[in-house]
Amino acid sequence: MKFYIDNLPIVFPYDRIYPEQYAYMCDLKRTLDATGHCVLEMPSGTGKTVSLLSLIVSYQQFFPTRRKLVYCSRTVPEIEKALFELKRLMAFRIEQAETEEQKEKERSFMGLGLTSRKNLCLNPDVAKEKKGTVVDARCRDLTNSMVSEKNRQNPGSVPVCDWHENLGAMEPGTLIPSGIWTLEDVLEYGRQKVICPYFAVRRMMAFADVVIYSYHYLLDPKVAEQVSKDISKDSIVVFDEAHNIDNVCIESLSIDLTRPMLDSAARSVTKLGEKIEEVKTTDAAKLQNEYAKLVEGLQDAEEADSDTIMGNAVLPDDLLDEAIPGNIRKAEHFVAFLKRFVEYLRARMRVTRVVVETPLSFLLHLKDITYIERRPLRFCADRLQSLVRTLELGRLDEYASLQKVASFATLVATYEKGFILILEPYETDNATVPNPVFHFACLDPSLAIKPVFERFSSVVITSGTISPLDMYPKMLQFTPVVQETYPMTLTRNAFLPLVITRGSDQVAISSRFEVRNDPAVVRNFGSILVEYSKIVPDGIAAFFPSYLYMESIVAAWNDMGILKEVWKHKLIFVETPDSNETSIALENYRRACDNGRGAVLLSVARGKVSEGIDFDHNYGRAVIMFGVPYQYTESRILKARLEYLRAAYRIRESEFLGFDAMRNAAQCVGRVLRGKTDWGLMVFADRRFARADKRSKLPRWINQYITETASNLSTDMALTLSKLFMRTISQNPNENQTGISLWTLEDVEKAQEKQRALALEAEQRKEDTDDDEDDEYGNGGLSDSALMEVDLDV
Ligand code: SF4
Repeated sequence: MKFYIDNLPIVFPYDRIYPEQYAYMCDLKRTLDATGHCVLEMPSGTGKTVSLLSLIVSYQQFFPTRRKLVYCSRTVPEIEKALFELKRLMAFRIEQAETEEQKEKERSFMGLGLTSRKNLCLNPDVAKEKKGTVVDARCRDLTNSMVSEKNRQNPGSVPVCDWHENLGAMEPGTLIPSGIWTLEDVLEYGRQKVICPYFAVRRMMAFADVVIYSYHYLLDPKVAEQVSKDISKDSIVVFDEAHNIDNVCIESLSIDLTRPMLDSAARSVTKLGEKIEEVKTTDAAKLQNEYAKLVEGLQDAEEADSDTIMGNAVLPDDLLDEAIPGNIRKAEHFVAFLKRFVEYLRARMRVTRVVVETPLSFLLHLKDITYIERRPLRFCADRLQSLVRTLELGRLDEYASLQKVASFATLVATYEKGFILILEPYETDNATVPNPVFHFACLDPSLAIKPVFERFSSVVITSGTISPLDMYPKMLQFTPVVQETYPMTLTRNAFLPLVITRGSDQVAISSRFEVRNDPAVVRNFGSILVEYSKIVPDGIAAFFPSYLYMESIVAAWNDMGILKEVWKHKLIFVETPDSNETSIALENYRRACDNGRGAVLLSVARGKVSEGIDFDHNYGRAVIMFGVPYQYTESRILKARLEYLRAAYRIRESEFLGFDAMRNAAQCVGRVLRGKTDWGLMVFADRRFARADKRSKLPRWINQYITETASNLSTDMALTLSKLFMRTISQNPNENQTGISLWTLEDVEKAQEKQRALALEAEQRKEDTDDDEDDEYGNGGLSDSALMEVDLDV
């Protein structure tokens, strides 16, 4: 389908389009036109990715600036899926191009996906390693600039990677021909040409029109510095599935140190010392050279291929211009410095009570005890890298703990605000054997994403469940030009959300701490599962707020004979924190759904299942959310974060906790519907879901279908409604959606006409009244009201 949005020709690779896809594209275009940022919430299963790619590629191909698209997703399967969509879109664009010149333009378009070496390595000796960090380290040993140099001077004198060396012989910019390359394609191409797919993609990123990779390549400063620093400023950045982006930001700047890590760091320091002594006797000039370079300045010392070094901790640009302080320039002085710092940390671990302190008080205490100043500490990570390079160390994975300590040093000395240090001597409050952890916790998600907002002119934050929308700009500190959530247009109610507030015995149900283990509540939760396993065909996914709670409930259900009852109708599988176990459980769950036996999967909110697994069609005909998935509020890190949010951004504790619980609940129940032809039940089992303040935090496309009747039900009433829903859904499976929830080109044009008429009318009204009505964004503008009104009266 080809149509216009304003003057922009859009090529959409299907002959029908959902109204919400069209509205989504209009808002995206507004964002790009304004070179601003946006937050968009698009219902699950309504083709968000294809709409996004279709609009942005049309934009890139139409305007001569051809801004690059950097598309960030969370998992490798999601990256591969987006690449497939892009490939299909470009094939369609080539087919649709009218002249040979246009076809050539489409053919010269390039899209690449990047993932870790572990997934893209072709060298069998390296690829066989199980751990990603070991693959990285072994690859660096074979590919760093010193090794390449030695090999050039004296071929065969050092082990190298042939796949990497072959790349060197090729013309830069021609390592991969234009076109769209999925990860599988690029691996195959690497095999054919005997070149390394990982480095080929990294070196071709500068020439690609679309780059699809994981969040970390932009948000984690250690990785972003190496991979993404050359991406141009006018690029369009998209964070897809961004409902947890604040947590990713926080994690990327937080570090946990344990005692075994510090022991390993201490051993590495000793090894470094020995290596220095050795080099002094064999090649003292090397160390002198390094010293001379460090005197000149940090950046000069950091020439060469950045890939040869370990990940760099974040350092603001102005600091990079400074020279490394005199007292750590000499290699042996730096090693002594590190030794002192590691010893200090080890000594601090010998506490019996919890210590909470700010970076500033940590630094003061450190100085009192060890005379270590803040400034050299800041350069710790960079200085370590320089030394590693000078000493030509191999197997860098063995220095991982020391590298963490160095990053910790740099971060603690760089940031004053937005971080906290928490030293917890015991794993749990009741534990008696010490197992201390030193948390350096980032409390402010805006710190990690700030460089992204500052550097790129358009950042799109999007997901199926990202309500309430205004929370993200507040937490991440940016001002969106468009902020929009779309309703879902359906010709038949494909899903039924129900809120069960009490059991058949009228006892209120809730996972509230005070009543969560009350036998009446546990029994009522159990009877919901039993009754639904009787009436729902195939698969049911049930979610609990935490593993701990799930364990206690399942144990109680076992004692009460509830599990036995469920077994009569379905098999039961349980998610565990072990991802291998969970994968096996999931596989068997699907098998049971496929062969008609039917199954129940017991899982937790925020777990692997709730985030990345779809329960489409027969794999999920009902999702039951047992309780409101609040976070464990006794966590000291969470408490500190809540306090920080209140003080810095005026976000109240209850506001954040409520928001976080509801986004996770929405994420769980949203798993059931993966397209408009799919159908399922969404059961919210907790009386608190009936409250308006909770429901208002759900995505609009779910909330719009929660009727007053369905928002306060007993188990019996919910079952009656569910049965009725399933009977109805089975009766009109092929109802024609065209014109209502599916548009042809004609429908699009009709809607556009209406949109124009409304715009004109509004313009005239504005002129007439000349009022200064609040021109808030976020109301979706005229386009949406015109487009969506057909379906909003549900
Ligand atoms: S250069 Fe490529 S093929 Fe060679 S070891 Fe590294 S990742 Fe593997």
